[in-house]
Amino acid sequence: MNERVCLSPFCGARTTKPVLRCPACGRPVFGRDEIARRGRHVMLLGLILVGVIGGLVLSWSSLLPSAAGTPTPGFRGTGFEARTLLFGFAALILTGVSFTASGALMIAGRSSRTTTRAGILSFAAAVAAIAIVLISASGR
Ligand SMILES: [Zn+2]
Repeated sequence: MNERVCLSPFCGARTTKPVLRCPACGRPVFGRDEIARRGRHVMLLGLILVGVIGGLVLSWSSLLPSAAGTPTPGFRGTGFEARTLLFGFAALILTGVSFTASGALMIAGRSSRTTTRAGILSFAAAVAAIAIVLISASGR
């Protein structure tokens, strides 16, 4: 069987016909081997994101006491800003975890729609949190 799958997180249609475009939404569809190959890239991307953001949070450890309300020399923002920034970093790590899971599911030939959606939502939450911190910091 040569099943082809639409990778759109809001569609995910499957077809056994040898088409290049999704019959439901018109986006490209991919065969199992192509999806597995893309899955490895998505998984690597997710792991890099988790590693980079995780490292950033660890190296910026003065954020943690700031978030708890203790003024620290390394972070000049307010406790609210520190907490929001930490939330943003946590959401970015969640984005990386979601994409890593998506990649693993794609390699396994399973639907990665749920994890891809979770990744997109986490990323939107992270962008919103970081924007709030920037707006808050620029207002002082
Ligand atoms: Zn589709």
